[in-house]
Amino acid sequence: MNAFKDQIFCPNCNVQIKEGIFGSNNLVKAIDILIINEFLEKKTDGYCKKCGPELRQQAFSGLQEEKILLVVEVSKLAEAIVVLSIENPINWEYSCLGLVSGQSISQKGAFSEIVNSGISFFSGTNENRHKMIKASEERALAQMRKKCIDMGGNAILGAKIDIQALNGDKGQVFVSATGSAVSVKNFDICDKLRFEVLQALETKYRRLNYLITLLGSISAESQN
Ligand SMILES: [Zn+2]
Repeated sequence: MNAFKDQIFCPNCNVQIKEGIFGSNNLVKAIDILIINEFLEKKTDGYCKKCGPELRQQAFSGLQEEKILLVVEVSKLAEAIVVLSIENPINWEYSCLGLVSGQSISQKGAFSEIVNSGISFFSGTNENRHKMIKASEERALAQMRKKCIDMGGNAILGAKIDIQALNGDKGQVFVSATGSAVSVKNFDICDKLRFEVLQALETKYRRLNYLITLLGSISAESQN
């Protein structure tokens, strides 16, 4: 008879898995096994209460960090999603996916500064106000680009940007942008550099969404 026949050991650290009055050791939850394996790029079947918790902590912070870096990287790469006001660029072969839009509100006072500044629009401190409006415009465009990627698109055509003053002269500025998301089929021929950036964007965006889902399911579980 083999005395070890019915004994189970941790697939990672080989410590015995047991339930007993002199101490017990179980495997950690499936979601924890998943994130440890994801972080360590392993396919271990399980981790126990002895080796698991510390690894889980490392994996959680490691993946969080990766997620934060990816958000920055993806935002930068997404600028390769060109936004054009024209409807039909020459040499482009594309299919239309649908309407995308973005909205943004500037900080207080941006519009009044610009109206009152008159001719000195671009000089001195008003340049900062101009930058503030530009920033609102960029936020609206960023939203459109994100929606475009989600629809499987890689460019936006027929774009219109509308800037309105809210609450009269002293209020804020509301920027709204709309356009048509399209999927350009021949970037690999007509714009090779953009094509390569768009490929990197696609890979990183997929990874980011995976991490958001994975880490989101962990936080949801820890709240229960
Ligand atoms: Zn273990």
